Amino acid sequence: MEIWIEKLLELQELDLRVSKMHAQLAEVPQLRSQAELQYRNEALALVDAQEELKVAEVEVKSFDSEIAVLQARKRDFQSKSALIKNNDEYRAALLQIEMVNQAIASVEERQLEAMFKVDQLKEKVSLREKDFLAGKARAQVVLEDLETRRKNCERLISELNESRPGVVAELEDAVRQAVSNGGECGNCVSVYTRLRSSKTYSSLTPCVVPLEDGACGRCHLKVPAQQRSDVLKSKLVLCPSCGAIVYQE
Ligand SMILES: [Zn+2]
Repeated sequence: MEIWIEKLLELQELDLRVSKMHAQLAEVPQLRSQAELQYRNEALALVDAQEELKVAEVEVKSFDSEIAVLQARKRDFQSKSALIKNNDEYRAALLQIEMVNQAIASVEERQLEAMFKVDQLKEKVSLREKDFLAGKARAQVVLEDLETRRKNCERLISELNESRPGVVAELEDAVRQAVSNGGECGNCVSVYTRLRSSKTYSSLTPCVVPLEDGACGRCHLKVPAQQRSDVLKSKLVLCPSCGAIVYQE
């Protein structure tokens, strides 16, 4: 294989790696949101449990004022009953006090039930908190991996970009050498650059491809005999169907 083709393949390998790193980097934001979504249900369940607890706590407090009103009424009856001289009226007043006592007892019972419910809900909140933290920790592992991936990709991209001018210079030397020996590959660098920047194919797809059983390694269509023979003579040959640079392995 001609040196200029080897160098062109080396440059392509480098450019493909850079494109691959960029593609991996581009996935990071979406993967981050996916990881955060993983514990979204746990977060929603925690908020629901906290809301439920708040409502139950308000209910417990609301019984306090109900009891206070009943106790005020009881005190009122008690002070009035002290002034009563008549037996029937006194008995009626005692009955009223007894009824208020029963009402207080019933509200206190409901308040106790509400307090019991608050205790249960506190337990539920603490369980939901545990689920949420576990989900968050799971996502954290993924997020850290993604951060490592981001850093590695950026480091590799900058390393590859730094070494690129050297590879290009070696390719240009090889092309000059080939041209001075009568090779027909003078504009291969600019052709390659145009192919790499073309939008027809993904930047992850090679544009310098081997002949495979007489067909182009990119579009897999047959390359005509004349071009195949030029390939064997190490001329710069473009696939007539897709425009890729074809070479003989
Ligand atoms: Zn082709």
